[in-house]
Amino acid sequence: MEIRINQVEKRSWVEVDVAQLRKNYRIYKSHLNDDSQIMAVIKADAYGHGDVMVAKMLAEEGCRMFAVSNIDEAVGLRNAGIEGEILILGYSSVKYAKTMKFLDLTQAIVSEEYADTLAAAGFRNKCQFAIDTGMNRIGLDADNPDECERIIRKYSSSLDINGLFTHLCVADSNANDDKEFTLGQLRKFDGIASMVKDLNLPFLHCLNSAGGLYYQNQCENNSIVRLGIVLYGLKPDATNAIPEGIKSPLKWMSVVSMVKDVSVGESLGYGRTFKVEKPMRIAIVTTGYADGFDRHLSNKGFVLLHGQKAPVVGRICMDQTLVDVSHINDVKMGDRATLLGVDGEIEYNADDMAQELGTIGYEVLCNISKRVQRFYKINDLMVMSD
Ligand SMILES: *Cc1c(COP(=O)(O)O)cnc(C)c1O
Repeated sequence: MEIRINQVEKRSWVEVDVAQLRKNYRIYKSHLNDDSQIMAVIKADAYGHGDVMVAKMLAEEGCRMFAVSNIDEAVGLRNAGIEGEILILGYSSVKYAKTMKFLDLTQAIVSEEYADTLAAAGFRNKCQFAIDTGMNRIGLDADNPDECERIIRKYSSSLDINGLFTHLCVADSNANDDKEFTLGQLRKFDGIASMVKDLNLPFLHCLNSAGGLYYQNQCENNSIVRLGIVLYGLKPDATNAIPEGIKSPLKWMSVVSMVKDVSVGESLGYGRTFKVEKPMRIAIVTTGYADGFDRHLSNKGFVLLHGQKAPVVGRICMDQTLVDVSHINDVKMGDRATLLGVDGEIEYNADDMAQELGTIGYEVLCNISKRVQRFYKINDLMVMSD
């Protein structure tokens, strides 16, 4: 017999407010031109939110295009019954050509060599050419447009090419030279798209979250926006303004396992990095770095308890963290601690934690580990992830 624990009272767990996620999608869409469509980027388990649940919600919103990073993510979505276009943005071994064909997946073509290998597999796979317009990651080199055209045409019968895309690498920057660079990327992409116009490729796209907000009307191929980070309520860059009402739907929760008083002269945790210099009360919170609570937040970060900040004291352990609750009344076993989310007046999201860590909100979200179970708030009910 299988025993499943499905109460929302774990050691460390995530709650996703599905109504807020839906709202983010609608608000973002309302900022696009009327004829624009969204390709939802749900790679990396929908930036840690749970790809199946996010895809199902978006399908209800009318979204018919999804992008993932690899074949496993794509297969997981098809197995969960997700229909429509699924684009694999990164490399997949051509050993999967048959699987991709069978599941009607679209593979990004990273290079001519890759196109050649995939075509030789003989399944006439659905694919889109990545065009490298300056990021120097994957794709055909847009600085050589004739070559791009030659390669695309060369495979136009041995592969089922349904589009071209490029990726912007500084669309979130306000600096003048970055704006120039982005406009250059868009020009190069539009140029190549126009050279193969006669192929009537239906999916031509170049805008990410930031691109859709700031460059929508500065390129020709703007009818599909690949929406990632802003769907999840975060900013592409900390300096960006995102539309009013878009918020992180994610709460990361944990609990207090015990509370204790410590006295002057004692030390806290591994390495004795925190020396107690005045009588303190500390609480043990049941989340650690194995849950994705970054160890660089040792003696630096905080959790929210009773609507107040409880600073991390000592080193974050694998499964537990010590926090200072000297200034917070009545903290006791079983109290909920908020690592990300709103508690009382304080709102602290993955972008805020990223600032503390010198990274980006994307990474904070992706680092919340698999053992932190995701729950979904749907119509005031909490639902488990599977
Ligand atoms: C991740 C990714 C996106 C989404 O980017 P955001 O900044 O999250 O909107 C779009 N396109 C490609 C190719 C990506 O890899």
